[in-house]
Amino acid sequence: MSNKMDERLESMYQDVLRRNPGEAEFHQAVREVLETLGPVLAKYPEFRERKIIERICEPERQIIFRVPWQDDRGEVHVNRGFRVQYNSSLGPYKGGLRFHPSVYLGIIKFLGFEQIFKNALTGLPIGGGKGGSDFDPKGKSDNEIMRFCQSFMTELWRYIGDTTDVPAGDIGVGGREIGYMYGQFKRLTSRYEAGVLTGKGLDYGGSLVRTEATGYGATFFVEEMLKVRKDSFDGKRCVVSGSGNVAIYTIEKITQLGGRVVACSDSNGYIIDEKGIDLDLVKQLKEVERRRIKDYVEYRGHARYVSGGNIWEIPCQVAMPSATQNEINGHDAKTLVKNGCIAVGEGANMPTTPEGIKVFLDAKISYGPGKAANAGGVATSALEMQQNATRDSWTFEYTEKRLANIMKNIHQNCYETAEEFGAPGNYVVGANIAGFIKVAKAMVAHGLI
Ligand code: NDP
Repeated sequence: MSNKMDERLESMYQDVLRRNPGEAEFHQAVREVLETLGPVLAKYPEFRERKIIERICEPERQIIFRVPWQDDRGEVHVNRGFRVQYNSSLGPYKGGLRFHPSVYLGIIKFLGFEQIFKNALTGLPIGGGKGGSDFDPKGKSDNEIMRFCQSFMTELWRYIGDTTDVPAGDIGVGGREIGYMYGQFKRLTSRYEAGVLTGKGLDYGGSLVRTEATGYGATFFVEEMLKVRKDSFDGKRCVVSGSGNVAIYTIEKITQLGGRVVACSDSNGYIIDEKGIDLDLVKQLKEVERRRIKDYVEYRGHARYVSGGNIWEIPCQVAMPSATQNEINGHDAKTLVKNGCIAVGEGANMPTTPEGIKVFLDAKISYGPGKAANAGGVATSALEMQQNATRDSWTFEYTEKRLANIMKNIHQNCYETAEEFGAPGNYVVGANIAGFIKVAKAMVAHGLI
């Protein structure tokens, strides 16, 4: 990626490269934000004087720890745990935990960095953080997952709390893992501090709609982008990558809004079902039985499974990448545009490479970057914290309405900010600048800390 940047910003970026060697995803996330901040520094000289960008790029605290655990045969394994407490200007650090073998500090820092601006966009009082481990949950028994989660929390508990740092789920961390971690936190602290984790089960302090929130929210965001084009989901042919938490509830909401999702995937391949994905079957396979997406075709003879393959070659009008970072490259983006795609909403974090983003922006399709489009997950986590703080629980309808309103506001904020800064229709500019200004103002107010 080599879009031209303001000279001062380029030199700040070079410093980030020098100080954080070998962290490619982190570099990518920082560059994408810095590229859009030139006009902000021009308008707010105090941000430059107070070195807000230099400070925002440096996490407030980074914790790395050993996580030893035993498998069912008694063999000992050692993984690495991370928690990056990135920025607490707007509230306690907030952001998920990712368990995936690809996790290293550069992944957690990219996610934590993005989280700062995303959380600011929600308008709720939450700072940015992220954590996880290079542990691979695939193929592990429930007991192995439990022992790992307990060992992970045995170190993490001392750094988190309902007013300091509130982790949640991400790839490889869902309700089961949050439950085991919450249990261990409670045991270690002798405290029933429900607000220390979000994504909890409904029986012990979880919020309705949290499970659905990221997928629903991303779909609401795309709905808003379509409204700007005087269009809607009705009758749209859609492709959603992944088949985990975000993908499943994206498919659900698209279907409710009248769209037809014809394909979804996992890391081994994709399924295509021209009649529309049967979501009950996907839920049964993925959420209940923890199986692979290829098993779908065992039950739906008319559907097709493609091993490996590239899901973005399937023609669609709306694409919602909901698996992982850098899953859409420049070539994929061109293919999507050529095949008639008019809107892309990122359920995943940074799923499009810089080359891909450029293709979408040049083609003037509606492109909703993850920071804005997938903020519904963390926003509903903040709603879970509110319910925990008041020992209350809200109805599904009420909570979903709050989520829908938050997504509408995020869309409007990004849209208007992009116009104000001379880039109408560019949600990348809108999201980065709107999120940044909010955090930067709070940092200025707090003095040099
Ligand atoms: P899940 O673990 O529930 O599902 C992840 C899905 O993506 C699985 O289908 C998985 O396939 C696939 N996937 C993961 N890694 C890869 C990879 N390297 N290559 C190809 N496919 C992959 O995670 P979530 O649904 O929670 O998260 C998906 C994305 O959404 C992530 O980018 C996450 O950061 C983002 N996100 C999640 C939020 C949440 O609330 N959960 C909030 C905001 C963003 P397989 O099973 O084969 O690994």
